Amino acid sequence: MATTHPYRVLLYYKYVHIDNPEEFADQHLAFCKELGLKGRILVAEEGINGTVSGTVEQTDAYMKAMRDDARFADMVFKIDVSDTHAFKKMHVRPRNELVTLRLEDDVDPNELTGNYLEPKEFFNAMQDPNAVVIDARNDYEYDLGHFRGAIRPDIKAFRELPDWIRENKDQFEGKKILTYCTGGIRCEKFSGWLKKEGFEDVSQLHGGIATYGKDPEVKGQLWDGKMYVFDERISVPINQVEHVVVGKDYFTGEPCERYVNCANPECNKQILCSEENEHKYLRGCTHECRVHPRNLYVKEQGLTEAEVAVRLKELGEEAPVYHAGE
Ligand SMILES: [Zn+2]
Repeated sequence: MATTHPYRVLLYYKYVHIDNPEEFADQHLAFCKELGLKGRILVAEEGINGTVSGTVEQTDAYMKAMRDDARFADMVFKIDVSDTHAFKKMHVRPRNELVTLRLEDDVDPNELTGNYLEPKEFFNAMQDPNAVVIDARNDYEYDLGHFRGAIRPDIKAFRELPDWIRENKDQFEGKKILTYCTGGIRCEKFSGWLKKEGFEDVSQLHGGIATYGKDPEVKGQLWDGKMYVFDERISVPINQVEHVVVGKDYFTGEPCERYVNCANPECNKQILCSEENEHKYLRGCTHECRVHPRNLYVKEQGLTEAEVAVRLKELGEEAPVYHAGE
């Protein structure tokens, strides 16, 4: 791996009991700030889930300190190289759950979870004609990139996944079920829940897509598009052999891998959109968002009302009537 990148982005989790997550979070935040890290870490009684960025030295010091703690001694860190920080701030937050599933009957992945498949095993298993591959992430993550042929659950948040599976269970019965997610944490619980639900042959991609993309043998093959990440990079490449674009421009349906947030701060929806269409549509996902009085795009670009009216007219839309004072 190139040593010319002065920064790193770490991704990690561990299901292990943590006493008093609130107190742990306070102390951990102070420790991370002292090191100079930035990122987001969740702490719960069931464990820790984090992604942080920092220099090579800072991240080395962090990983060493974590491994010196018996609870996290065997924690796996996925490491990406980077030219800068991938976050603006440092947050450590106590939570009830590391990933929000709100199961009526919770699953402890240390007791019940799907078989772990290493990247090469997952690559082979995907090609089994009796296999179904379920993407355990959200729809906007899938839309930017996914394993070829994977099922896209029609959900906006992870906690909707169990209901979606129950409603669509005929697709999975009697099949070899393979699940995957970004770093593996969502599949730990989801695959355990699938087994509890009565599905017998359930396996998960160990270490997630992040690990799969770095495997020297499979080189990210059978992955199409890019992988969505929850930091300022927004997406990272996975398939080192070929790059098939699967993302589609929200407005035109043309191939596109550029995510932006709708400029209406009350909407903020993530949409795939070319630079050209961002200008054309005032970065608004609907007419209402385009003409919203606090449209951030209009503000950033310093557009006058007349200029906004011209853009809208080109789209065949009416200009808004602003009230005095707005
Ligand atoms: Zn919108």
